[in-house]
Amino acid sequence: MHKLADRLDHFSDSIIRRMTRIANQYDAINLSQGFPDFDPPPELITALKQTADSGPHQYEITWGSAEFRQLLAKKQQKLMNIAVDPNENILVTCGSTEAMMCAVMTVCNPKDKVIIFSPFYENYGADAILSDATPIYVPLIPPTFEFNKEQLRQAFAQGAKALILCNPSNPCGKVFTRQELEYISELAIEFDTYIITDEVYEHIVYEPYQHLYLASFPGMKERTITCSSLSKTYSITGWRLGHIIADKAIIDGCKMIHDFLTVGAAAPLQKAACAGLAFNENYYHQLTKTYSQKRQLFLDGLDKLGLTYYPPQGAYYVLVDISAFNPFATDLEFCEWLIKEIGVAAVPGSAFFKEPEYRYIRFHFAKKESTLLAALGKLSKLKEKLPC
Ligand code: GLN
Repeated sequence: MHKLADRLDHFSDSIIRRMTRIANQYDAINLSQGFPDFDPPPELITALKQTADSGPHQYEITWGSAEFRQLLAKKQQKLMNIAVDPNENILVTCGSTEAMMCAVMTVCNPKDKVIIFSPFYENYGADAILSDATPIYVPLIPPTFEFNKEQLRQAFAQGAKALILCNPSNPCGKVFTRQELEYISELAIEFDTYIITDEVYEHIVYEPYQHLYLASFPGMKERTITCSSLSKTYSITGWRLGHIIADKAIIDGCKMIHDFLTVGAAAPLQKAACAGLAFNENYYHQLTKTYSQKRQLFLDGLDKLGLTYYPPQGAYYVLVDISAFNPFATDLEFCEWLIKEIGVAAVPGSAFFKEPEYRYIRFHFAKKESTLLAALGKLSKLKEKLPC
């Protein structure tokens, strides 16, 4: 038999999703893969039931239903402060996972270089590799996760075709400042580089931090490909609804890739999700408030346990420093022990960091308060149960 494709040699399965499978096997509380254990807003569930009766049940137009694109355009142009035409500037995708892959494939030729900040959401490495592009990793340096300006400039100067910007950042919770985004914009313009953003946590930002859309910075609209999703905003990660917003020339390219990758996102789910896209500002304020409370509860719990972590400015993850816990050869081993002996699942930091010297694990707190309290209760046994 011929060997399967060489590209399979360059990445593994998703460690995040692998941790969920192990957590399920041991019935552990799953704070690894980031998804809620509470229901989406009732309006979405009602709309989903109605859609079962009224349809659509056949293909939607490949780049997304007209109603979905109109509502999304209205919502995003207000937030992003740029004109968004529902016909020219939007592509609806199967989650932001497809959006990001589609964006990278639209921009990159084989051997093109793509800058990725490390730590990074693990899909980006695979997106680059599957597009035959070469990642250049630039560290966000703990504990503040700032980048070194000169190092970033050098990465751009290597002729990078694109940079991937996850803001707010998964896994570290960094929210990029205006100054940082201005600097990235200057470099992108100077070196003629596209910026592909992943802004799925755009509505989950903690005071006093503020989410700024890179596409709204001077000179950036025409070179920014804004990817996001409905998964986190409406607690519907399983609906797999994402989108790309960009200038027409870019969206036309993305539409071609998307057309042959997936044909389209699920038609009935697009229809039902319109109930969420039509929400007014109160919904998003309440979402921020809900996540601020969960964040506080979980971080207070980590404080009581004497664990060291980086307080997230946005998103719903927290990186906990495990460098003091040394009996394990790798952070993966630590996480496997944590699932089996403590009953809580986390993601090993090595799934996100290119730098081998860091020892972090990532928890998420998109869970009911009762789940978070139960997890903290189990984690209170951590130090006493550690093997010597
Ligand atoms: N974004 C979530 C995480 O980082 C879920 C990832 C996924 O499996 N799509 O955990």
